[in-house]
Amino acid sequence: MQKLAINLENLWLQCISEIEKRVPPQTCSTWFKPIVPLKLVDEKIIIQVPSRFHYEWIEEHYHNLLENVFLEVLRYIPEIQYTIVLGDPSFLQPPQENGSEIFSIGENINNENTRLNNRYTFDNFVEGNCNQFAKAASLAVAEAPGKTNFNPLLVYGGVGLGKTHLIQAIGNHVFKGRKAKRIRYVSSEKFTIDFINSIQNNKTSKFSKLYRNIDLLLVDDIQFFINKERTQEEFFHTFNELQQKGKQIVLSCDRPPSELKGLEDRLISRFNSGLITDIQVPDFETRVAILQKKSLQDNIQIPSDIIVFIAANITTNIRDLEGAMIKLLAHASLNGEDISMELTKRVLRDLIKRKNTNLTIETIQRIVCEFYGIKEDFIRAKTRKKEIVFARQVSMYLSKEMTNFALKTIGLHFGGRDHSTVIHACQTIENKIHTDKSFSTEIDEIKNKIELTV
Ligand code: ADP
Ligand code: MG
Repeated sequence: MQKLAINLENLWLQCISEIEKRVPPQTCSTWFKPIVPLKLVDEKIIIQVPSRFHYEWIEEHYHNLLENVFLEVLRYIPEIQYTIVLGDPSFLQPPQENGSEIFSIGENINNENTRLNNRYTFDNFVEGNCNQFAKAASLAVAEAPGKTNFNPLLVYGGVGLGKTHLIQAIGNHVFKGRKAKRIRYVSSEKFTIDFINSIQNNKTSKFSKLYRNIDLLLVDDIQFFINKERTQEEFFHTFNELQQKGKQIVLSCDRPPSELKGLEDRLISRFNSGLITDIQVPDFETRVAILQKKSLQDNIQIPSDIIVFIAANITTNIRDLEGAMIKLLAHASLNGEDISMELTKRVLRDLIKRKNTNLTIETIQRIVCEFYGIKEDFIRAKTRKKEIVFARQVSMYLSKEMTNFALKTIGLHFGGRDHSTVIHACQTIENKIHTDKSFSTEIDEIKNKIELTV
């Protein structure tokens, strides 16, 4: 057994050195070095990757390369199977090899019994003003499920703000600390579908029994229960029974429960018997902290000015922040480029443009004028004084870059100038950005100031 492991390790080292010959160093360290080979049997190799995304990326871009490398080292092409580490599943099911769940392409990678994804933990949940209370309440529940007054605990907030992460973190914490036996995470959609299926198959009593015998029930996105009367009724009874038995219920929702029109009042009043808490959009500092934590986790160095740039520009939610970072890493590694400011701006251009629907041309004018120390009125007046023309051109350029307003509209905001004046201004400023590095930095600085106001 030991011998096999050593051989496998050696073999993988050989593979890595082959891979290094074929891809840039950064690609190798991002995508291949984190791989751990687990087993080679019967012409099948099992390799462990850090995340689902990692697996998908390799499958999409490096499958052939991996096969070629194996052919080189092993003299044949093995079947490649991937696994993702899933913590210690020994509690709810018999121990599996290496504490991992093995899956083939297309299979569900979640822990089947709890349906939890162990990627979501309190440890990697970054705290900020926006989520501090929700996290504290979740942790209290996770420490003593069913024993606090927070039952049910309901966390609400917009998309991508961390609701699923937080409620699954409760599940994982309870699971790890063995504080409850039967844990189940379910989206309200899945609950609904399973319930409908159980009706069709005459198995409603089995369904009810399953859900009413749980110690910790986590139901995600309960807004999907809206207008599904029979499912609501089933859920209501599940809820009551669990609560009577002192079992813990945790719910998430995309809006405050009071706004859940189409959900029975008796359910909403049940929610009020516990604790309702919200998660807000993260502020700038939290966004920076999240990006730093993610880069640390993935063992990838991202220069701090780039982290600040992303945090200043992607303000919508945490999922978008993560998406931006993944997109940037993927581009850098695919093209073997360093993560530079230039690359970041190029890759994230679309994401950044899309979000600025709240930004007005007046805000841009105000900040540019503050920056250059000139009176705002001048920029909209006929003045042809050099400094003012310059500030006006910068404002026009930034209006075009940072908003979706048409050139004509932009012109109108500058004392009724026409669109060709705006085009000329944009060209002038763009030229200067490309030829004058300190000016380019100055523009970035102004942009960051503008972003912080949105
Ligand atoms: P929601 O369920 O509210 O739509 P998710 O829980 O799916 O949002 O979060 C979106 C992504 O952002 C997930 O990958 C999650 O891990 C990450 N995320 C959310 N909040 C945080 C946080 N506070 N710290 C670290 N990552 C977070
Ligand atoms: Mg969610």
